[in-house]
Amino acid sequence: MNAKWRKFLSYYRPYMKGFIADMVFALVGAATSLIIPLIIRYITGTVLLEGFVNAQQTIIVLSLVMLGLLAVDFGCNYFIAYVGHMVGARMEYDLRNELFTHYQKLSFRFYDDQKVGSLMSRVTNDLFEITELYHHGPEDLMISAIKLLGSVVILCMINVKLAAVALLPVPFMIAFASVLNRKMKRTFKKNRERIAEINTRMEDSLSGIRVVKSFTGEDMEIHKFTEGNDLFLMSKRDNYRYMAIYHAVLWCTTGLITVAVAAIGALMIGKDQLTLQDLIAFLLYVNNFTEPIRKLVSFTEQFQNGMSGFERFYEMICIDPDIEDAPDAKELSDVKGDIDFTDVTFSYGGNPTREANVFSHLNLHIDAGEYVALVGHSGVGKTTICSLIPRFYEPTEGRITIDSTDITSVTQKSLRQKIGIVQQDVYLFAGTVLENIRYGRPDATFEEVVNAAKRANAHEFIMELPDGYDTDIGQRGVKLSGGQKQRISIARVFLKDPPILIFDEATSSLDNESEKVIQDSLEELAKDRTTLVIAHRLTTIQNAKRILVLSENGIEEEGTHEELLKKNGTYAKLYHTAT
Ligand code: ADP
Ligand code: MG
Repeated sequence: MNAKWRKFLSYYRPYMKGFIADMVFALVGAATSLIIPLIIRYITGTVLLEGFVNAQQTIIVLSLVMLGLLAVDFGCNYFIAYVGHMVGARMEYDLRNELFTHYQKLSFRFYDDQKVGSLMSRVTNDLFEITELYHHGPEDLMISAIKLLGSVVILCMINVKLAAVALLPVPFMIAFASVLNRKMKRTFKKNRERIAEINTRMEDSLSGIRVVKSFTGEDMEIHKFTEGNDLFLMSKRDNYRYMAIYHAVLWCTTGLITVAVAAIGALMIGKDQLTLQDLIAFLLYVNNFTEPIRKLVSFTEQFQNGMSGFERFYEMICIDPDIEDAPDAKELSDVKGDIDFTDVTFSYGGNPTREANVFSHLNLHIDAGEYVALVGHSGVGKTTICSLIPRFYEPTEGRITIDSTDITSVTQKSLRQKIGIVQQDVYLFAGTVLENIRYGRPDATFEEVVNAAKRANAHEFIMELPDGYDTDIGQRGVKLSGGQKQRISIARVFLKDPPILIFDEATSSLDNESEKVIQDSLEELAKDRTTLVIAHRLTTIQNAKRILVLSENGIEEEGTHEELLKKNGTYAKLYHTAT
């Protein structure tokens, strides 16, 4: 048994009791439905032989027995539908939790190539199909096997010749089913991929709806969406075409069996080879063994669907986070804030060819408590340098240390707790202002939150919001201005109170007025902390004690604003083109 199957089965383990109970009830239910036609046959036979008056007693007793069996059947069906589904739902719950937890562990590199819509689709669509398979699969197999085998045995015991007539088409049905199944498997997989694509498109288009509207791109979006939707329809069509043949052929075969049994049975009665009660029993059983075949058909359908869902789930679960804590990772504590890059080479592709490297053999030292600015033209790698410090990406070569401790030797959690980042794009979660600021430190008191907001120059505007700190800012914070969102994100960092700060173009997208206010709060925040500032507008970093100029060749120049201007090199050029 391979790893995939072992994983597939492992989800049953916690619910073994419920699952076994489900199977037992399925078994009992199937058995009762096999017994009832036998009783009917017996009643018919008794009446025919002994006459109505003598048989009356038997009829009443056996009818009560049948009612009893029906009650048992009712109980079984209720149990299977309720407990069986709950077992499935609990397994789905586990799968969903596992997938979400896994998503949380995966690193930036993973999310660089993934689309949210497709990731969502795995959680919503795929998992549902898997759990349907989980509980219906074994249950249906069990019920069908018992009914099919049971009725075959009983039919053979009643009359072998007529049983042969009834069973003749069965091998044909099975062969037919397996051929079509193979074809359907492909269409199911395609369906799954296409619905994921549709979700991705939708997610993308709705997230960017403001851009769509400003470029009046609605028609183009609808067109692109329709294309995906058409493809989905096409793969569904292939799918349903196979299913239609499948069901039609099977229904028709069932009908043929009934007709053949009735006709040949009648002839046999005429020749005294069969009794009437046997023919009645036969006709009742025909349903009892064609129904399982149909069930098996829907099982194979469910199986294909569920397994292709599981395969997608499994593929995802098998992706290892590419950045993991070392087995002996320690907590990073008592950080002063010296940062060193030694001989660091980095490329996003992971392969260190000279062309693909964002930078090679970079050396950089920042003293604890220093305020350092990093400048350089767009795309040169400033943001990349910053994302190496919290270990969002791993250097291809070289090492990065904080207070001489290699960052790969400490836990990511403790490392990232020591670093505060303020970026150009602010992401606010759905929820209140309070919750968003508290994201910096979930156990902060209300006073601490207010204090952080005050220092971030956010308190005043927050108090003007309809519900103050309890105002719901909606997903993506659409109801706040860029500057206001930025101030909330700064309050978040104040609350977190990290010894190391990174400002990555924190004020670049703001108007002059907000920039001024935010600049003030950033400077307040930077006091006594190691701070690395990337600024687009060079005017904002003029008073930095040290400015590093990054170019394709690494750190090309460094010094104060005046020193660098005097040098008349890259910095001077950048400064003069900008102003
Ligand atoms: P800067 O912040 O200086 O403008 P970046 O550090 O963002 O530059 O980018 C440096 C280079 O790395 C650019 O050529 C950019 O295209 C590339 N790059 C940035 N992010 C990624 C990523 N997630 N995957 C692949 N390449 C990237
Ligand atoms: Mg950048």
